[in-house]
Amino acid sequence: MSFTIHGVGISGGIAIGRAQLVSHAHLEVAHYDIPKSQIATEKSRFDAAIAQVRQDLSELASHIPEGAPAAEFEAFLNLHRMILEDSTLSEVPKQLIETMLCNAEWALKLQMEALIEQFDRIEDAYLRERKADIHHVVERVLKALLGRPGYVVRSIPEENAILVAHDLSPADVIVFKQHRFASFIADLGGATSHTAIVARSLNIPSVVALHQARTLIRENETLIVDGTHGVVIVNPDSGVLTEYRLRQEQWLLEREKLKRITRTKAATLDSIDVELHANIELPDDVAMAKESGATGIGLFRTEFLFLNRGDLPSEEEQFEAYRRVAVEMEGMPVTIRTFDLGADKQAENAIRVAPNPALGLRAIRLCLAEPRLFHHQLRAILRASQYGKVRILIPMLTSMHEIDQALHLLKEAKESLDLQNIPYADNVEVGGMIEVPAAALSVNMFMRKLDFVSIGTNDLIQYTLAIDRSDDTVAHLYDPLHPAVLELVSHIIRSANRVGKPVMVCGEMAGDTRLTRLLLGFGLRQFSMHPAYLLAVKQVVLKTGISDLAGTTQKILRSHVSDRIENLLQKMNS
Ligand code: PEP
Ligand code: MG
Repeated sequence: MSFTIHGVGISGGIAIGRAQLVSHAHLEVAHYDIPKSQIATEKSRFDAAIAQVRQDLSELASHIPEGAPAAEFEAFLNLHRMILEDSTLSEVPKQLIETMLCNAEWALKLQMEALIEQFDRIEDAYLRERKADIHHVVERVLKALLGRPGYVVRSIPEENAILVAHDLSPADVIVFKQHRFASFIADLGGATSHTAIVARSLNIPSVVALHQARTLIRENETLIVDGTHGVVIVNPDSGVLTEYRLRQEQWLLEREKLKRITRTKAATLDSIDVELHANIELPDDVAMAKESGATGIGLFRTEFLFLNRGDLPSEEEQFEAYRRVAVEMEGMPVTIRTFDLGADKQAENAIRVAPNPALGLRAIRLCLAEPRLFHHQLRAILRASQYGKVRILIPMLTSMHEIDQALHLLKEAKESLDLQNIPYADNVEVGGMIEVPAAALSVNMFMRKLDFVSIGTNDLIQYTLAIDRSDDTVAHLYDPLHPAVLELVSHIIRSANRVGKPVMVCGEMAGDTRLTRLLLGFGLRQFSMHPAYLLAVKQVVLKTGISDLAGTTQKILRSHVSDRIENLLQKMNS
């Protein structure tokens, strides 16, 4: 039977292929019966997984990276080793395999649930919180059972496979970057959740917020994914398939045509230059950024160096990553954002799950709370500054004292390098992300201490409208055109231009061609976006006369009715 599911398109284009169901190891574990003859095999599979995790944990313990809070790290590893070695986890699941005749993953999941239930009944808050540690250890064992990356049981050739997930973390999705799947769709997530942002960087048509896709779609079913319109068609009939094959060809053709302007300078009809930079998550992404004709890296989300690993990246490893990006960008600006961990990007060994992570110890707050971690990142960035035009960008600033503290820690990092005679560029600029409404309203004060600002519209929208960007149930309320958002964005740009400080937009609004003219009308001249959008944005820039925008921009800013804003925007774009 053919049917259609609607969600939020996060990466344009059309993919046609077959469904490949994927799971987050700990959330969705397959249950299957096993014959008696397989009990021994299943048990030894389980033992092997425990042994592997035992080995992983001792390797971690012997390589506590520079910059990690060593005592805490050790305590946490010891706790995890204790949990692993406890017979409730390492022995009882084997009894379950035997009595229930089920697979090892399922037995482990059952036992974990029983343990968690016991923990829930404990009154002591500290012990109750150790629940998260049990989850972490079980997750490690499950991953070992499934084999890393583990989430995909390969049954369809990659280029034909459409990954169908319920919910995946950004760390899960980034693993897919090493593959060439046809498309990615998921039930949960908003358009600017980090999961969606990483999915976008896979550069394949993608749709999120489909709610029921993972339940309704079966393995191997034929799917059409229209990433532009946020639609998934399951089991299409031949007429629909033909129609979409045509559309797919057309889309590919248009994408090819856009390549002609890769080397064209981004300037408006009235010869105003516009900088188009790329957002990257990992050093490997530089290739795609350069291919798209980006004239700089406007946002290097360094926290991705932390994901999918049990340890922390050392200063040396970070230095190598930053140096590589600086060298490969050949003197073009490289804006390295300091770790924005917390919220929906947790390191695997995050010790505590915050009650409200988006408002918790995230980004600069976490860095100031863990100054040793920050110190080593700052040293690594400074050391890399020798190899190109490196800038530092601090995420989620809210108060002046955070800028003061961050600058103070930067000074200390420089002094420590001086003491060791390690060279670094002396003109490394420091900018701040303006992504909290308080920062937007304080931008004039902030700019006195910063060399540049960059607007993180994803978070600015989330915090201004009180809409969780990763929650699919409110995805429809997440509105970049809300008058309050437009007012804040234009205020930041205007304020920066008035004092001559560079200002960039690096949130997803920068890559939305519908908004390019509006942002130009606000006075924006620097955009940073996922490389896949860069040429389409450039094309709009090339066809725009700035002098034509003033009237409609003002009308949009004065308007407080969504329909009217939509109409005016359409007029501006026609
Ligand atoms: C933003 O918030 O707009 C931004 C660019 O940062 P991130 O999406 O990584 O939070
Ligand atoms: Mg942000």
